[in-house]
Amino acid sequence: MERIDIEKINEFSTILKQTDKPIILIPHLHPDGDAMGSVLGLWRVLINAGFTARVISPTKYPEFYHWMDGHREVILHSWQADVAQKCIEEAGLIICMDFNEISRTGNMKDLVSKFPGKKIMIDHHPFPGDFADLVLSDTTSSSTAELTFYLLKKIGFDQYIDRDAATSLFTGIMTDTGSFDYNVSDPRTFETVSELLAFGINQEEIHSNIYDNFSVDRMRLLGHCLTNRMTVYPEFRTSCMYLSLEDQKKFNFAPGDSEGFVNIPLSIKGVIFSALFTEKEKYVKASFRSKGNFAVNEFSSKYFNGGGHRNAAGGELFTSLQEALDKFEKLLPEYQTLLNQ
Ligand code: 5GP
Ligand code: MN
Repeated sequence: MERIDIEKINEFSTILKQTDKPIILIPHLHPDGDAMGSVLGLWRVLINAGFTARVISPTKYPEFYHWMDGHREVILHSWQADVAQKCIEEAGLIICMDFNEISRTGNMKDLVSKFPGKKIMIDHHPFPGDFADLVLSDTTSSSTAELTFYLLKKIGFDQYIDRDAATSLFTGIMTDTGSFDYNVSDPRTFETVSELLAFGINQEEIHSNIYDNFSVDRMRLLGHCLTNRMTVYPEFRTSCMYLSLEDQKKFNFAPGDSEGFVNIPLSIKGVIFSALFTEKEKYVKASFRSKGNFAVNEFSSKYFNGGGHRNAAGGELFTSLQEALDKFEKLLPEYQTLLNQ
């Protein structure tokens, strides 16, 4: 089965051909490897094809993605809102990547929703919203980067893919699958990787740039989190961790420092549901991971104003950290049967 209807692919091609003004590519706020890999991969391809294209990120992203091609050209709305606004005013098309609802653009929400030109969404999350004129959504793709590669081939833009673009797209697939650990049961994911490798990318270097680049503080924070901030509930096959603002201060927390933490308790025998609550200045960020059928996106949207995928989701709660932890703990008995299935 095709990932995207042919009519939509043709429309995508037509919109691109008709665009004679700059194209703006937007990842979700606090972008991860798939969001950045997708926008930077597509950005390079559009540049190679002769378009003027710019990446505007709602917020900054972790330093271990700063080696990526195009990083220096990225405009941060949180840093230069006036520059971002001017770029959008001059643009002819916006492409939103790796998110399904406009709230995921954070403070860029009004800029994006009031944009008079066309908006395209390229994404793999369930429940796509309808804020874009053209929705290119496929939940069977491991990552937005994998879907982007498919779309580029379908519209004949694979001729503009070079080693840099392939490196960015590979980064998206690698990070969204936990280095090919989950969401990789579809053979097409590995076919895509195989085709990307043919561009001469260095997958060992890419992996190392991201996963062998952590600070000492980050490593010690992980130790602290696992030793002092983790509760395991064997009767619910659940683990819950938290990081207070004080913890973050103590270990000189930098964006991305806790990326991957929430996955770790899933390697405890019997644990199938893991939560991490991170205290922020004005809210609490929740991260959820699961194994098997327990749908953390439903759990997150029902109780934590969030969403995501079945096995990886997040949300936000405008309460104290303690209230968020209490809320989580009180919900577990309700899910006991489901968690033990
Ligand atoms: P993470 O836990 O790594 O921040 O996010 C895991 C997944 O959940 C990602 O696919 C991300 O798109 C989604 N997600 C994280 N936070 C939120 C949120 O606040 N709202 C929604 N709708 N999705 C989120
Ligand atoms: Mn993704």
